[in-house]
Amino acid sequence: MPQTDAETLVQEVSAYLKPKDVAQIEAALAFSIHAHQGQLRESGAPYITHPISVARILTPLHMDAQAITAALLHDVAEDTGISIDELAEKFGKPVAELVDGLSKLDKLKFETKEDAQAENFRKMLMAMARDVRVILIKLADRLHNMRTLGSVSKQKSERIAHETMDIYAPIANRLGLNSVYQELEDLSFKYLHPNRYAVLSKALKVARGNRREVVSKILEAIHQKLDENHIKAEVRGREKHLFGIYQKMQSKSLAFSQVLDIYGFRVLVDDVPSCYLALGVLHSLYKPFPGRFKDYIAIPKANGYQSLHTALFGPFGTPIEVQIRTHQMNELAESGVASHWLYKSSETQINDLHQKTHQWLQSLLESLAQSGDSVEFLEHLKVDLFPDEVYVFSPKGKIYALPRGATTVDFAYSVHTDIGNRCVAAKVNAELVPLRTELRNGDRVEIITAPLAHPNPAWLSYVVTSKARSEIRHALKTMHLEESARLGERLLGQALNSLGIKLQDIEDMCWERVLKETGAKSRQDIFADIGLGRRLNMVIARQLARLSDSEGARGDSSGIITLLGTEGMAVQYAKCCRPIPGDPIIGVIKSGQGLIVHTHDCPSLRKGRGSSEEWLDVVWDRTINKLFEVSIKLIVANQRGVLAKVAAAIADADSNIENVHFTSEGEYTALYFTLQVNNRLHLANVMRGLRKIPEVIRITRVKSIPG
Ligand code: MN
Repeated sequence: MPQTDAETLVQEVSAYLKPKDVAQIEAALAFSIHAHQGQLRESGAPYITHPISVARILTPLHMDAQAITAALLHDVAEDTGISIDELAEKFGKPVAELVDGLSKLDKLKFETKEDAQAENFRKMLMAMARDVRVILIKLADRLHNMRTLGSVSKQKSERIAHETMDIYAPIANRLGLNSVYQELEDLSFKYLHPNRYAVLSKALKVARGNRREVVSKILEAIHQKLDENHIKAEVRGREKHLFGIYQKMQSKSLAFSQVLDIYGFRVLVDDVPSCYLALGVLHSLYKPFPGRFKDYIAIPKANGYQSLHTALFGPFGTPIEVQIRTHQMNELAESGVASHWLYKSSETQINDLHQKTHQWLQSLLESLAQSGDSVEFLEHLKVDLFPDEVYVFSPKGKIYALPRGATTVDFAYSVHTDIGNRCVAAKVNAELVPLRTELRNGDRVEIITAPLAHPNPAWLSYVVTSKARSEIRHALKTMHLEESARLGERLLGQALNSLGIKLQDIEDMCWERVLKETGAKSRQDIFADIGLGRRLNMVIARQLARLSDSEGARGDSSGIITLLGTEGMAVQYAKCCRPIPGDPIIGVIKSGQGLIVHTHDCPSLRKGRGSSEEWLDVVWDRTINKLFEVSIKLIVANQRGVLAKVAAAIADADSNIENVHFTSEGEYTALYFTLQVNNRLHLANVMRGLRKIPEVIRITRVKSIPG
């Protein structure tokens, strides 16, 4: 007579539970059969097949009697109107609480992970932290529902598959339930992408057949070598799960055959020293790939996972990935947090490995006890289910998922492009922070904007989202054009002046002719071209003068352009000589870059003389009020505290140190400072202060920085 599922379940629990516990499970089984009498699943099967299957997913993990009982009863309260109190009376309070926790979880609807708002997430993890068995039963419930998803509508199966992929599979992974996690992913993949799944699983079947011979050859070689060295080990071939292969193809743009090209093996030994011995033996059998060895035994992963990983050049150049670990480590890797029950039942003490997983749950529990607040909760949890993302909140409590490393500027752009472009400051958790501040889970971020603010090129060095990056680039380009046009207008005005014409006197007709001749679209374009050095101001000026009727007397022909310090990106101060107000300066128009300002005596100018660059007379406006960078070199005697004295003198003169580096030359040290000053007078003040320090031997301004 064929055995029923119910009988198999009783047999399975009898293998590891006491008779008293088995009796309770039998009672729950009878109760559940009775309660679900006449009820059918969508597939048409009797409903009772579901709770029994859920319980049977938990028996290989050796879950305790309360958990198996709760698994059998998990849908009773929901579907048949039997109260939690009644269950408590019949099966005890702990079982009733487990069932209650499960039906509460059922009421949560998770959409995609973007939509999984903090509150839902929180409830889910609350349940997990209060009693991890709730989540283990829930995962088993979900796994069985996924296995039987074929009989529900396409729309519903897709929604459930999405939810599984985004919420349940990552939780199973985080809890170290390896096989549950992989099956959940594969099944979700099957319902989300039926065609890809079909093609890939067929290809995989064929490939596995072809691989068998190579695998057995390598297995044999490894076995033999370990035997020769008297290392007792169990060696297994290891297959990637289907979705893992698919992910690898996607993320690394590899073909199916390239992914499958890698052969995986696992070596299980008795103790930790044997792990390292086996590693050495394998490295002598096949050459290791440099840089691919990872020691997760010395430094376990966050979920407690321990193993040695290495990659080898196998026979015929086949790449081989090998994991080496003890049997105990393997138990943890395979059944994760559930190995707690596996070990308890065999009376083995919980060792370090389990403690790590429990520590994680414990810290979760503690953070929950401290606050019922979602924000604080996420902060504590650090949502390590999705290790590459951080979750932050807007002031109104809306949740934003950003990649790890994202800054307040990334956040601003993810809220809205205008917020990004206008942002001037940020508050994180109500405190003002620099814009470059990296966001952490649970941060509440507020962006302060100003209507006239613009993006700063420096932002590009720290934003991580592609949206922020491309929006900043776009805005900078627009700004650069506007600023260049303003400069170009001034340059053209100056050239016209030298011809005795005023820019504002040029008639529209002349402009139209010039536009036609040059092929430019607008005056603004011509101005921008001049500012960027793509057109010569004098050429355009002569064109306009030729076309213009006004033959005004040669007026102001000084031809000097005055720097106001407000030209923005259209004017650059040369890095080689770092001119500051008060220095005699000269302007050079570089094609595509615009006006670059050097000091008269800059050595790099002498080199460039005679090239096609256009030189301009420029002077500082007297009212210029801006900080400029300048470099100085100090030779000081090597004495304790001299650097502090120097820094203090610089600060006393109201200057800022931007950068400092030094080289030691025997009993003297050369200090190179980059300082911020207003002008030459200011710099002179700084240097006067420095000369008063007895240890300072010599001070010079550096005007040509090598490189
Ligand atoms: Mn169920």
